[in-house]
Order: sequence, then structure tokens, then C-alpha cells
Amino acid sequence: MKHKPVLLVHGGAWAIPADAAAAHEAGVRKALEAGYAILARGGTALDAVEAAVTVMEDDPTFDAGRGSFLTSDGRVQLDALLMDGGRMKAGGVACVERLRNPIQAARLVLEQSPHVYFVGAGAEQFAEMHGMALIDNSELVLERERERLAEAKAREAAGLADATFSGAQDDKSAETAYTAGMGSHDTVGAVALDGQGNLAAGTSTGGTLNKTPGRVGDSSLIGCGCYADDESAAVSLTGWGEPIMKLVLGKWAVDRVALGTPPELAACEAISYLYNRLGGHGGIILLGPDGRFGLAHNTPAMAWGIATPAGLRTGLTI
Ligand code: ASP
Repeated sequence: MKHKPVLLVHGGAWAIPADAAAAHEAGVRKALEAGYAILARGGTALDAVEAAVTVMEDDPTFDAGRGSFLTSDGRVQLDALLMDGGRMKAGGVACVERLRNPIQAARLVLEQSPHVYFVGAGAEQFAEMHGMALIDNSELVLERERERLAEAKAREAAGLADATFSGAQDDKSAETAYTAGMGSHDTVGAVALDGQGNLAAGTSTGGTLNKTPGRVGDSSLIGCGCYADDESAAVSLTGWGEPIMKLVLGKWAVDRVALGTPPELAACEAISYLYNRLGGHGGIILLGPDGRFGLAHNTPAMAWGIATPAGLRTGLTI
């Protein structure tokens, strides 16, 4: 191997409560184990990212795949993006309701289509045509999430809507929502550098709680919640999607790395920019082509983990 492989993952940035902490760290660890096994045997960054994200989509702890937050009409609608920084290929899907692992559909788009992005029924048809099983949306819905949606609707009816989900850009109400621990962002993501020196990134989400059907957040949009280019860096974000999208924050961060800012600094600068410009909250993982990396969040916690030849580490704050 020419390079030391690195895999960095996150499982969302928010006020992770004590009773959810162990599940988040365990989920992140399982994702690292699955992804790093691929890198350790000489596999590609793209395969490692896909494997790590798949594990977290399958884990109902996270807002990705089964167990995701529900739309205002009680369904799961999923978005995912996968990007290969060596070949500069990307595949994305949004608003899919019948796929267990949208990151695998994103991989099919990346490999098998001249296009880079599919939505809704067209994305599902494309995935099915390429061998993925279509499931009933109810298989992705948990009772826990039905209750969470009912609580969100009751808060909304009482005039206590969570500003972090409504798109309101009032710093104070966003802050209050976070302090109260209501704003939860459990999206998952991974970035990797393989032994050949190639970077890849992936992000997968059920989006925000009580979102209007059809809403697409930052996670699956190229350059917003995810990006990879061997000539700059690989990035995955989580958090309040609307401000992240408006700032095209993933591309903003990797471009700083390309211009010479170390990833550890560029990650902090990206989160400061998000807050100072739009009052946004979230977290970021950023990995350069030389293996240097950065993590940052301005939420009370972010589930993260890293695997290198030196071993595996997970944490809930930086
Ligand atoms: N960024 C995601 C979205 O807005 C939510 C999250 O990160 O949990 O859809």
C-alpha cells in the first residue's frame, strides 16, 4: 500500500442524550469495523464508505434507512449521496421510500448511469432495474418514530415548533431548541482514504423530523452535505440542512483544504462560517489526501469514529 488508510465516520450531531450515547458509539464502531476491514485488505475508499454507511443505515439508532424520522404525513423518505474522488464520479438519490439501503442505490447510480442524481419513483425504478429489492415503506417505519412525530406535531400545534427543522433563521429559537435537546440530527456519513491514495465520501439520511414530503436536505446534494475529490478533500456533514445547502458548505470546506488550510482548521472554520453567516448548527468530518483530518461541531455532541492502522477510536464530543 502506498498510503496509510483512514476511515472517518459520523452518526449525527445534536444533543445526544445519555440514554442514547452507548447505542450511538456502538453503531459508529460497527460501521468503522465493516469499512476498515475493506481498507485493511487493500480495498477501495469507495467500497469502505459504502460498507460503513450501509451498517449505519441498517442500525435503527440513526436517522438513515430503517428507523429514520418521519415526514409530516408519516412516511420515511430517504436521501443519500456517494462520491468517488479518484474517478470524480458521483451518485445520488432523494425522496426514496422503498429502498432499505439508499447508499447502495447511490452506488448503482455512480457506477451504472451517465446521470448523477435520481429522485422518487424514478430512483426506485432505476435501483430495481439494477437488482435492488423494493420494500414496503412501512418496513422502514418504527413505532418510536410514530410517537416522535406525534410529539412534534403536538409541539407545532402548541406554537412550539422546532426552529431547527422549520427553516426559521432566528438564532435565538434555534439555540433554545438545541438547549432543550429537541433538535436531533442523526444523519450518517463516512469519508475514507485508501491505500492507493484515493478519497471517497458518503452521506445518508431520513432528513428532518416532520419534514414536508418531497423536501430534500443538504445530505445528498453534491457539495452541500457530501463531496470528495482527490485534488482537495473528502467531506460529510450533518445538521440543520437548509443553511448548509445555502452555503454549499461541503465544497467550501474542501476548497479551503485545496488552498492549503489543514483539514483540522478548515473543519472548525466551516462550522464557524455556518453559525456566523446563517445561525446554523451541525457537524463535519473532513479528510485530506495526505490522511490529515478534521472534525468539528457546534451542537452539544456529535457521534464520530476513526480507524487507521494505529487502531479504532470513537467519541461523542471533540
Ligand atoms: N442534514 C440533514 C437534513 O437536513 C439532517 C441531519 O443531518 O440529521 O436533511
